[in-house]
Amino acid sequence: MLEICGVPFGGQSVPLIAGPCSVESEEQLEQIASDLHKLDVPFLRGGLYKLRTKPDSFQGLGEEGFSIAKKVSDKFHMPFTTEVTDIRQIEKLYEVASIFQVGTRNMYNYDLLKELGKSSKPVLLKRAFSATYSEFLNAAEYIISEGNENVILCERGIRTFVQETRNTFDINAIPFLKQKSGLPIVADPSHGTGLSSLVEPIALAALAAGADGLLIEVHNKPEQALSDGQQALTPDEFKSLMEKAALILKASGRTLHGRA
Ligand code: PEP
Ligand code: MN
Repeated sequence: MLEICGVPFGGQSVPLIAGPCSVESEEQLEQIASDLHKLDVPFLRGGLYKLRTKPDSFQGLGEEGFSIAKKVSDKFHMPFTTEVTDIRQIEKLYEVASIFQVGTRNMYNYDLLKELGKSSKPVLLKRAFSATYSEFLNAAEYIISEGNENVILCERGIRTFVQETRNTFDINAIPFLKQKSGLPIVADPSHGTGLSSLVEPIALAALAAGADGLLIEVHNKPEQALSDGQQALTPDEFKSLMEKAALILKASGRTLHGRA
């Protein structure tokens, strides 16, 4: 079974990855990590390189944010997950990230996938918003065939005719891809819905469908977030989600990682 920094993925205990969409400042990341640490969340997330739809949107702190991410994740002993958008970042991010994330826009970037396949770090591979299941699994195969078997799939919603939500979370993908690939699969209801009020219900549905983990955007001041504030949960909202998640998991004989 895949284990990251001592935390198993794909077993009876279900890990959570939470944190802001973007690392914005040391104060921001430290506050959020401190709140999540109190809730026994094992993994901290935060974007350093952001691939935004509009070029004038906040693009992330880039290298400037490395020391912030390292300091905060070390302080709270929370391994850090961040997106790699370019092959040239892989080596530099080695000391900062415990999981390399591939974003939805890069699932088809086969050069990036092959390069991550040569690394020893686990890769959280997000489904492209237009990818079929076989395209998604072939992307995973690009990483695995280079020697890195530590791949976690992530369903983060797809583009449909629905206009009212940012994406449509594809619940079918969870059991289908688990059965088909045997890889662990994590649900991202934050990007899957784009609306904070929908994150909890879809997170719970994904767990009921067998998701091996959740990736959730949490911000201490969502209204001031530099990216994706409308889909961020506050730490209190996240705490309430965790309580309900524990109950849903119990029904299938599973537990939240860190909770008895
Ligand atoms: C993210 O997780 O911050 C992100 C950008 O996600 P996605 O690539 O799924 O849009
Ligand atoms: Mn985001």
